[in-house]
Amino acid sequence: MGVSDPLAELNRLQERDLELDQIREDQSRIPEELAQARLHLRQLEIHLGDLQEQLREVRMAYHKADLELQDLKSKREKAKAAQAQATGAKEQTQYGEQIRQLSGLIEDLEGNNKDIVGQIMPLLEQIEKLEEQLIQVKAQVDEARPRLEALETANQQRVDALEADYQSKKADRDQLAATIPPAIVKEYESIRRARKGTGLARMTKASSGYRCTACNVQLPMHVAQQVHQASKVVRCPSCGRILWKGE
Ligand SMILES: [Zn+2]
Repeated sequence: MGVSDPLAELNRLQERDLELDQIREDQSRIPEELAQARLHLRQLEIHLGDLQEQLREVRMAYHKADLELQDLKSKREKAKAAQAQATGAKEQTQYGEQIRQLSGLIEDLEGNNKDIVGQIMPLLEQIEKLEEQLIQVKAQVDEARPRLEALETANQQRVDALEADYQSKKADRDQLAATIPPAIVKEYESIRRARKGTGLARMTKASSGYRCTACNVQLPMHVAQQVHQASKVVRCPSCGRILWKGE
């Protein structure tokens, strides 16, 4: 190999690649505050949807009860009119019984001022309560939405700034890569992809011999010698990374 050690250059390239990886990781990391705000709004929207659904059901129940009430009242009016027209005592009694039954059903719906609450009043109260809750939750949504939008915008600006940094560092990195023999760069890049990070590992001397600093395996002496000679690219027999003797 020439005057300069291409693996030393490759090591510098790797440092830049790791820095670029870090930028990509920073870009994809969602700030905690933003994650919380997204969750908060989603939960409010779910709550809002639930309340709207409940309100729809209670209103339907109310309208049904109200229609039934109008129907019973009109039947009672007819029975009363028929009773007034009736001549026989038996007929009078029959209409009387019918009116009594209808009055009971009417009371079940609209209650009386004594012991029966009826169905309609509690439904109206529920409607009122749900409408109040709905107003409150809508106000919370109206407050949470612009806050989330501001956080989304700030995050996008953060990501864009990192992207500009990335592109500028990537250009420098590519310039450096161009000074290293292409075959070595290609081999390094393919190992780096497979190993999700590093393609070059330093060899280090330990008391028992030489080790690969990436996978920590002890290297056979002939491998260590080849790495020292640096006359060709030598890979770690265990992790497959290109071994470098260091500076
Ligand atoms: Zn190794």
